[in-house]
Amino acid sequence: MTTQTHHTRGDVEQFAAKAEQWLADAVPAKWKNNRGTLTGHEMDELRREWDFILWEGGYSGLSIPKEYGGRGLGLAEEIIFHVLAGSAQAPDGLARVGKSLVAPMLIKNGTEAQRSKYIPSIMNGTEVWCQGFSEPEAGSDMANIQMRARRVDGGYILNGVKTWTSFAQHARRCFVLAQTQPEARRYRNLSMFLVDMDQPGVSISNIKQISGAMHFAETRFDDVFVADEDRVGDDGDGWGVAMRVLGDERGGIETAARYVEIRSDVDALLSALGDNPRYADRLKDLDIRTELVRWQLAKIADLETTGDEAKLGRAASVLKLMWSELWQDVTRLGVTRTPVEEHKHWTYQYLEARAVTIYGGSSEIQRNILSERVLGLPR
Ligand SMILES: Cc1cc2nc3c(=O)[nH]c(=O)nc-3n(C[C@H](O)[C@H](O)[C@H](O)COP(=O)(O)OP(=O)(O)OC[C@H]3O[C@@H](n4cnc5c(N)ncnc54)[C@H](O)[C@@H]3O)c2cc1C
Repeated sequence: MTTQTHHTRGDVEQFAAKAEQWLADAVPAKWKNNRGTLTGHEMDELRREWDFILWEGGYSGLSIPKEYGGRGLGLAEEIIFHVLAGSAQAPDGLARVGKSLVAPMLIKNGTEAQRSKYIPSIMNGTEVWCQGFSEPEAGSDMANIQMRARRVDGGYILNGVKTWTSFAQHARRCFVLAQTQPEARRYRNLSMFLVDMDQPGVSISNIKQISGAMHFAETRFDDVFVADEDRVGDDGDGWGVAMRVLGDERGGIETAARYVEIRSDVDALLSALGDNPRYADRLKDLDIRTELVRWQLAKIADLETTGDEAKLGRAASVLKLMWSELWQDVTRLGVTRTPVEEHKHWTYQYLEARAVTIYGGSSEIQRNILSERVLGLPR
């Protein structure tokens, strides 16, 4: 794998100027102008199309090495691009889980064969991935995962149920955490697998969210085969791999993608209510907190270059709390105070934002992490 090249401030500025110009032309007008009125299906279609537009434009996988179909730039460019995409009101692609979680996971923990087999089709938008961690009895308490992966000749047989699996209905593949060593102690009994969803034994039941959208599903695995070469890390190392994935989910490209949506919603509020002095304080508060999210993202991009996993994990938990609670406040103001013609958009956003303090680890869990690992409070 080639090491990442270092870029000067001038390179980064040049990159930002080009990207801004590109975004101004590339964001589909249908998304930009009609967002509040699109159906869930239309939104999914535009999001899938956006994955291809990004790829063709050379803006997919900015921080992913070139040999796997990325641009070989840094997390800084990745974050800058997401910030600009937010201002340009760009959609968020369906390939999000693959780009922000799977590709970084394979770069950190995968084999060379896994990287070259799976990352290019994530980058060009042809394969959507989903994340199979949560189960009916294992959410916050992820170490309680019950899904079994039984050893057989050449691989494993998976049996069990995953739930809240975002994008499962669009996904060709799923990365799945399962018990391989039931007799081993907690945290040493799990392994991570890359599973082809297009095979007998995989069944998906969509779950309707409060917003009316169906972004997630319950996913069953009945006697599903996964080969040895599709295990990520050693047998029994799944917990460590999963923790790094959660760090990326709370603080990496994934959050930069969420920032896109928040910035765009705050801008919409500023243009709808900015002239009204009654809302000046609240708008200022939301605008400043959005800027702080951007700063925390930049801090994480810096920390990434030091490789200090403990600091990164803590910074990611802080960021997760900051952006999720901010977005709920933004949509609360939107749904209660914007003109009636914008209500469809704001109702949808408000209901969607109910979930953000739950997924990727709830606010209570982030506060537990911060109180124990940052403040050193007793458990
Ligand atoms: C929109 C959405 C998308 C999701 N997408 C995915 C996905 O793609 N893949 C996937 O694997 N999972 C996904 N999830 C699942 C998500 O990770 C879990 O919902 C989350 O980890 C919480 O688990 P739970 O739902 O089982 O709640 P529980 O763990 O049962 O928690 C219930 C409540 O108790 C609180 N609580 C639990 N333990 C503690 C504690 N120790 N201290 C203090 N409070 C506590 C929680 O904060 C919460 O308020 C998604 C969830 C949502 C809402």
